[in-house]
Amino acid sequence: MPPLIFRKGLDLKHEVADVLAASYHSELVGHIKSDGYRYSAGRVTIHLAREFGFCYGVDRAVDYAYQARRRFPDRAVHLTGEIIHNPHVNNELRGQGIRFLSDSGASIDALGADDVVILPAFGITIEQLQQLEARGCTLVDTTCGSVLNVWKNVRRYAAESFTSVIHGKYRHEETQATASQARGTGGGGHFLVVLDRAEAGHVCDYIRHGGDPRAFLDMFRSAISPGFDPDVHLQRIGCANQTTMLSSESLEIGNMFRDAMRERYGEAALPDRFRAFDTICSATQDRQDAILALLGAADGPDDRDWRVQQQQYAESGQNLRQPAAHLPCRRTWLLPLGPPDCPPSCRPVGRGHRRGLAAGRPGLYRPDVRSLDAGQYRGAGDRPDRRARQLLTASCCEFPEQPPLRSCYRMCLQPLQ
Ligand code: SF4
Repeated sequence: MPPLIFRKGLDLKHEVADVLAASYHSELVGHIKSDGYRYSAGRVTIHLAREFGFCYGVDRAVDYAYQARRRFPDRAVHLTGEIIHNPHVNNELRGQGIRFLSDSGASIDALGADDVVILPAFGITIEQLQQLEARGCTLVDTTCGSVLNVWKNVRRYAAESFTSVIHGKYRHEETQATASQARGTGGGGHFLVVLDRAEAGHVCDYIRHGGDPRAFLDMFRSAISPGFDPDVHLQRIGCANQTTMLSSESLEIGNMFRDAMRERYGEAALPDRFRAFDTICSATQDRQDAILALLGAADGPDDRDWRVQQQQYAESGQNLRQPAAHLPCRRTWLLPLGPPDCPPSCRPVGRGHRRGLAAGRPGLYRPDVRSLDAGQYRGAGDRPDRRARQLLTASCCEFPEQPPLRSCYRMCLQPLQ
């Protein structure tokens, strides 16, 4: 019997709305947003990026996961891995008894028709899907529409005998899923994953001048389809990308390939040899734009001390640091979630007192507890008020006089430049 697949929720949206709001909404962030995305107290000014929090794909995936738990209270509910790369969300789901197939000892082979499996926002590979279908599991598919859009394009490339050149991280689940789709319906399509401009440059050199195929295969051995032959499979290429890559880099890489194909085969042959489609999702684009806007807000360019907040595992968060690193701020700070104990590198943030904050794809959760840091302050008149302190508690180093806060989630601070 074909598996039951839920792709549009489980009709329990209203039933889970309250628990979702309690877990992931913040009054404080709402307050800052309604107050022009800024909060001032004493000498501390906190700026919040205009795009902040869950993207639409993550919002939907988390919603469906909660609905699945509610719909199947007596059945084992599993995730293939992290539903999104946000430790808090994944821990909350574990707390509800949802199991992770990525945990040691867990296996798809042990599943049966009674098991419910939630597929993550970034999708799973065709092989994984086939395995789950073969086990007869009930599936709750939260794959984001923007990811499905990428898949549609790479499948079309495969159907037209174009190799998909994917700008992404080969080990990232979304890129692996996209690569599996690039094999096409019959499984004979090809792909090549490039991480950045440097890798794209190597491929472009090969397109222009040829080279040693063994050296090429050695260089990209974990990022190519089985049977990939650079002398054959770089003759017709189509570009795609992991949805959370830096859009400017993806566009530049696309242009690099277009130029290389033009030089190799001539302008007239380009339509038959090269395809490109912007597959950066709009949520990622909006967040990248918000970072640039945040960094460009002129309050006094000589006295800015901006920071970029990043969840520990957020792909898009990592990509958000790139625009931040190139803007003329006095300092830009990367702020990963740290382990419960401050590592030795943890230290106060520095001298500035205007701060910027932005979040990666999963956004911050409960930012009233653990999101922002205190600015430096001198004397009682400069002290942030209680609400600002509440905002800033995560940076325990700056409030050593508040012992209860020292046991809060702590963050280590690393300068980007
Ligand atoms: S980052 Fe984009 S593609 Fe990924 S889940 Fe969010 S909206 Fe969808």
